[in-house]
Amino acid sequence: DCTIAGYDDELAQAIADEGQRQEDHVELIASENYASPRVMEAQGSKLTNKYAEGYPGKRYYGGCEYVDVAEKLAIERLKQLFDCDYANVQPHSGSQANQAVYFALLQPGDKILGMSLAHGGHLTHGAKVNLSGKILDAVQYGVDENGLVDYDEVERLAVEHQPKMIVAGFSAYSQVMDWARFRAIADKVGAYLFVDMAHVAGLVAAGVYPSPLPHAHVVTSTTHKTLRGPRGGIIVARGAGEEIEKKLQSIVFPGIQGGPLMHVIAAKAVAFKEALEPAFKEYQAQVVKNAKAMAKTIIARGYKIVSGGTENHLMLVDMIGKPITGKDAEAALGKAHITVNKNAVPNDPQKPFVTSGLRVGTPAVTTRGYKEADCIELANWICDVLDAPTDAAVIARVREAVTAQCRKFPVYG
Ligand code: PLP
Repeated sequence: DCTIAGYDDELAQAIADEGQRQEDHVELIASENYASPRVMEAQGSKLTNKYAEGYPGKRYYGGCEYVDVAEKLAIERLKQLFDCDYANVQPHSGSQANQAVYFALLQPGDKILGMSLAHGGHLTHGAKVNLSGKILDAVQYGVDENGLVDYDEVERLAVEHQPKMIVAGFSAYSQVMDWARFRAIADKVGAYLFVDMAHVAGLVAAGVYPSPLPHAHVVTSTTHKTLRGPRGGIIVARGAGEEIEKKLQSIVFPGIQGGPLMHVIAAKAVAFKEALEPAFKEYQAQVVKNAKAMAKTIIARGYKIVSGGTENHLMLVDMIGKPITGKDAEAALGKAHITVNKNAVPNDPQKPFVTSGLRVGTPAVTTRGYKEADCIELANWICDVLDAPTDAAVIARVREAVTAQCRKFPVYG
């Protein structure tokens, strides 16, 4: 008997319960998705046993002939997906991919200019609590009173501070980022442009969001958000040149990582093949249509969306001035089986652990098969709860409706 159940029942139960939670709750966390059974098959495969320090054909261990096949497939598919000539599939996570970029191209103490966490950037874009903000000298930009990136302000900061690298990309921004404008600013001050496209990588792959590849010196992503693969990171670049490519290769290994996770790399290869299918384009187009339908409904119900709407897979509900905090909204919606995360909104008067906002995203529900009409229903239920977060009857009614809707769209069948 080699199953977990019967050997470690407590853990088996936790895994089963999490599977059931994923079926019974509606998932609106913008950074989450459901990996396919094929992706999970690869990730649960015997490739987990293999040490393969180095790169295909140049390993520090014997017996790598088959994992080489897997890594080469992942690299070739990734290059095809983003039409680029450099790809590294080894970063264990998005954060490690970003760390690799910083330490490939910068020295400790060098200046970077990135989007602040409070305005939609990621921790790794120079936040004080993150290594990027501790080891590098990080200056931060944000959004204007309309919730839009103020490119003139980015340019002013760049000219004033002369950063070695400008970081574009975000975890909570619902508009199109002007990658070309970022590059022009970077060129003006002689900085590298690094784009972290983790949130929109799937949309970019499908051509429903502009690609940063023609503009950035280097691009990173996670593989588990809109890209719908296993948890992990990647680095890609177009026309970066041999010197930058060599630095990126050697910083990932041996610079910051040891043995690559070959089972995860195999799962990345499967996910990239899935992302090259025509159905993936339709999926991503639907992700955006669903997000737009939700944003429109939430606005019609009297809630503000930062920047006034969405052009991608996510939106930020701004509840400044409403009698509910992000933290309480997250908890009330959770009771109704709607999973979202509280999120700071620009100029949020509340502390980061409380906030006045919610981040809502459609990648996961769209994988389940939700279309606009389902998302409009859902958005109305969200607003019902936000209007009456302490009303047990409302929460019970919404939970029942959400449960019935979830049953219509099983995740794994
Ligand atoms: N970059 C961005 C823009 C993200 O939103 C995230 C995750 O939320 C990351 C990087 C970090 O990825 P990971 O959680 O895999 O370290």
